[in-house]
Amino acid sequence: MFRIVSRAVMALAIAALTALPLGAQTNDEWTRPFAPFRIVGTIYWVGSYDLSSYLITTPAGNILINTGIGDTAQQIKKNVEQLGFTMSDTKILTATHGHFDHVAGLAELKSMTGARVLIADQDRSLLETGGKTDFAFGTSPSAQFPPVQVDGTFKEGDTISLGGTTLTVHRHAGHTRGATSFTTTVVESGKTYRVGIVNMGSINPGVRLVTRPSYPGIADDYAKTFLAQKDLRLDIFLASHASQFGLHEKHAPGDAYNPERFVDPKGYLEGVQKLETVYLAQLAKERGGK
Ligand SMILES: [Zn+2]
Repeated sequence: MFRIVSRAVMALAIAALTALPLGAQTNDEWTRPFAPFRIVGTIYWVGSYDLSSYLITTPAGNILINTGIGDTAQQIKKNVEQLGFTMSDTKILTATHGHFDHVAGLAELKSMTGARVLIADQDRSLLETGGKTDFAFGTSPSAQFPPVQVDGTFKEGDTISLGGTTLTVHRHAGHTRGATSFTTTVVESGKTYRVGIVNMGSINPGVRLVTRPSYPGIADDYAKTFLAQKDLRLDIFLASHASQFGLHEKHAPGDAYNPERFVDPKGYLEGVQKLETVYLAQLAKERGGK
């Protein structure tokens, strides 16, 4: 059994998932296979070269966060099995936001595993319409994906628990209305790591913050997200794209298990600040009427 505990209600329920795309753009790094590996504790990389998919194993079944595109479901299956795990043990499918490069494989994976699909309440319609309700890419056929029925939703402060592992949900909206980061604590070899799978606050091309805003409140959502992210105090920094947290500078296929290589509080803060600088520049530009 897994449960999501609402901060306010303590409700037993089901729910969850989120992710980030660059519109209709794709590239080879999004689909190129990559050898799966153990990141820290029971958290594993099962994604492609650039698109993150995280497997979190527990005695009660597994959680899978994010897919890629194309044949992602089959790539993920191969990776999970290569690590010695079983796809049918997947109990929860979720994502960091509802853009195609992070959720296009959910429908196939749900069919393959029977797992429950959980997502932020604000991104539910993205999954159920295959991206047609997206404020930025809703009319772009190349950004659409197979719709998937959502079994439950989560919101800021909720927790997702399965087999002794608990993920805390952080609404980091802006990139999408329901963009989400997940944090958890992992104890490994006597060390305690605060781990974050963070949806970074990038702004897709064409998105407007104040001039006819792409959605009402988007500028405030980004501002809140950057504030909250700077306060997360992570040890291990993971994200929706490998490139966002420097995976390939920290790990190469065949490297021995070493969670210390992913301890990067400085890189995390720099990454957040860099995107905040981009946001502030766009804000100033739009306010200046340019
Ligand atoms: Zn996106």
